[in-house]
Amino acid sequence: MKIVKVKCNGTDQHINEIDLDKVLKRDWILKGVRSSKPAEHASKYMDIPERIVLSCKLCTGKVILTREQIKKTLESH
Ligand SMILES: [Zn+2]
Repeated sequence: MKIVKVKCNGTDQHINEIDLDKVLKRDWILKGVRSSKPAEHASKYMDIPERIVLSCKLCTGKVILTREQIKKTLESH
């Protein structure tokens, strides 16, 4: 599991722990990217979206993960 901690944009800036594996998998499935690209041509980071916006678990704020953050997290594991 690759957990990344991201602050929400609400006033309390809650720390949300995001499981990158789950988030990325879900995103790929939603967009159908995975099945439309041959695996041998897909680079490691090709399918990472520009940003992923999730809801904060503790308030109505948003948790925004950028591609840069995702890349850094993936590279550090
Ligand atoms: Zn929050």
